[in-house]
Amino acid sequence: MVKSYVTGFARIGEQRELKKVLENFWSGKVNAEEVQTTAKMLKTRHWNYQKDAGIDLISSNDFSFYDLMLDMIFALGVIPTRFAKFSGQQLYFAMARGADSAVAMEMTKWFNTNYHYIVPELNANSKFSLNSEKIIAEYNEAKANGIKTKINLIGPITFLALSKTTDDSCAFAHLDSVLEQYTKLLNEISKLDSEVVVQFDEPIFVTDKGDSLVDKIAPVYEKLTSVKGIKVIFMTYFEHALKAVNEVVKTKIYGLGLDFIWGEKNLAALEILAKSDVVLFAGVVDGRNVWKSNIDKKVELVKDIASKLGGKDFYIGSSCSLLHVPYTLKYENKLNSEIKSWLSFGVEKLSEIAIITKLVNDEKLNEKEVEIYTENKASANSRSNSSLIHDEAVAKRVANLTKFERDMSFDERIKVQKQTLNYGILPTTTIGSFPQTSEVRQVRNAFKKGLISKDAYEIDIKKYIDDCVKFQEECGLDVLVHGEPERNDMVEYFGEQIKGYAFSENGWVQSYGSRCVKPPLLFGDVSRPKPMTVEWISYAQSKTDKIMKGMLTGPVTILNWSFVRDDKPRAEIAKQLALCIYDEIADLQDAGIKIIQVDEAAFKEGYPLRAENIPAYEKFSVDCFKLSVASARPETQIHTHMCYSEFNDIIKTIEAMDADVISIETARSGNELLKIFKAVGYKQEVGPGVYDIHSPRVPSVQEQVEQIKALLEVLPKEQLWINPDCGLKTRKWEEVKPSLKNMTEAVKIVRSL
Ligand code: GLN
Ligand code: ZN
Repeated sequence: MVKSYVTGFARIGEQRELKKVLENFWSGKVNAEEVQTTAKMLKTRHWNYQKDAGIDLISSNDFSFYDLMLDMIFALGVIPTRFAKFSGQQLYFAMARGADSAVAMEMTKWFNTNYHYIVPELNANSKFSLNSEKIIAEYNEAKANGIKTKINLIGPITFLALSKTTDDSCAFAHLDSVLEQYTKLLNEISKLDSEVVVQFDEPIFVTDKGDSLVDKIAPVYEKLTSVKGIKVIFMTYFEHALKAVNEVVKTKIYGLGLDFIWGEKNLAALEILAKSDVVLFAGVVDGRNVWKSNIDKKVELVKDIASKLGGKDFYIGSSCSLLHVPYTLKYENKLNSEIKSWLSFGVEKLSEIAIITKLVNDEKLNEKEVEIYTENKASANSRSNSSLIHDEAVAKRVANLTKFERDMSFDERIKVQKQTLNYGILPTTTIGSFPQTSEVRQVRNAFKKGLISKDAYEIDIKKYIDDCVKFQEECGLDVLVHGEPERNDMVEYFGEQIKGYAFSENGWVQSYGSRCVKPPLLFGDVSRPKPMTVEWISYAQSKTDKIMKGMLTGPVTILNWSFVRDDKPRAEIAKQLALCIYDEIADLQDAGIKIIQVDEAAFKEGYPLRAENIPAYEKFSVDCFKLSVASARPETQIHTHMCYSEFNDIIKTIEAMDADVISIETARSGNELLKIFKAVGYKQEVGPGVYDIHSPRVPSVQEQVEQIKALLEVLPKEQLWINPDCGLKTRKWEEVKPSLKNMTEAVKIVRSL
């Protein structure tokens, strides 16, 4: 017998109800009560979706007003002292977003997802004090709705492993105090019912760091499993957790969650589990992607798991929380119907889980399930044959590739470039975008909705480019950009012009707090029917005698910020994307563009969770970047830009990408993080970023002179470019103008020294 579960459900709302009410609350338009009403409505709706689909084990405490790590910080009562004057809800949001003089707590990426959590802050004096109210209330709320839930909590080991300390102390020094609070909490929970299931999320154990923490599992969970009336699930996701499995089976833990989609190696754990009392919670429906599961194949997988478990009962469910996929296809009215038939969002995945469960148990499907199952078979068939997906010309081109990189080595190229481009020392430029004013957003939206003509749209965009070029000339920048006014988003802009991409209307996924993103859907073989940027860049070039830099998004970043088809290896899809950029570069240089920047903002975030998979990722992403710029002639200078500053672990890979110039985000770290470039003898040119664009502050001439001097202590002047540390789209013109003027002024001063 198998039963079904869901690791956790999304909470932002299928119409982003929570986002809207929160933002209205923060701006004082609605009161706290309204926020509660919306929250209650959402929780009830989500429980009912799961119940109606027939899911056996549903969660409570997977709802959050902002973030579940923040909720755990709040529940453990470990509040940084700068928030001492706040309490209750005000305190909660102050920690998340900052208030008065108290800066917000740090936020960072949740493992390899695009979700961001609030980082717990600890120090040697941290005090803990339990606040169980929300957790208890949510359980009772679900119970009042007729659902006996499992309670989701962040596990103590993951909590501490992801905490930062603001002094030299070690987060695990607090383990005992933390466990004291968890135990108190479990005691309270145990009074709620004769028996309550508690899911401890411990995803740290799918990382290499987790492997070094496995010896904590037995002592920690011995305490947590000793509370009477509590059944403990140890939940992992996103990768395999093989080392942890060996420890978990030694404890009295009731259930162990393993991801069989993104952690296929977990199959090796089944033999161990077969011999233990621990119940498997097998993640078999992809919680990270948007395609329909092939139900027949999943049934096979589950039966295989069953036989390896030697007939033991177990649970099947989503590979991780459904937080990471959009809600439902219900609102998708514009998607091509064939493409839509291949998709499955959160709500649709619930039915998949329920149907797989029934099929494995030989139970009869109800009428609606029969319909879904029939459609599922048809969709699997159409996906393997559809001409929308399979483009022979693309496949042939990839198969017959002969040119994978540029013709000349960097040493030779740069000599040619220095001559033809004729730039002196410390050349100045920017990263691409200029302020996205509300006017330019309105123009784009109006054009998209058909409210203004193409001509009217182009007049306005050209006007923006004219002003942008004029300002850069006045300012004395050496290499100009057009400012990107025609782009809503650096991936969506290209996706919209690439064949093989589709866009949902409502496929929102929470990124952090009330912020959501709507990743484009890469469903088939991709190709570029016609030039994507040449007209705008050529127009901008026609407005100046200086060099106009062409601006493209790189293939690895396009891939990492999309929902990508799961029927082909990512490395091959990346090659197809690379060829789209390859063609664009060929066209840009034919149009007279001499410098082209290929942004790889998301290169680093695609890194796998486990070191064992890093070489493969690095190989395909470097190959793919090199292929994308292989059409550039030696005299065409290729820049790239990356939105981070820590290159210590990946510097050799960055060098292997072989871009002529790289701009990076080191402004906030002085010259400290630049030192690695010197240490490894990095040859190519570097623009480290002389000021931080993430703040509205205008850096003075003197400050920037100092920053440039600091950079010159590390790298020679012949190797350095001077630029801000990222694109300027989020800033206002009032900030950008003086900042850039000060930057070019500072360069003049340094050049004359
Ligand atoms: N060229 C892009 C811009 O300037 C790069 C954005 C990014 O680095 N995220 O906006
Ligand atoms: Zn950037």
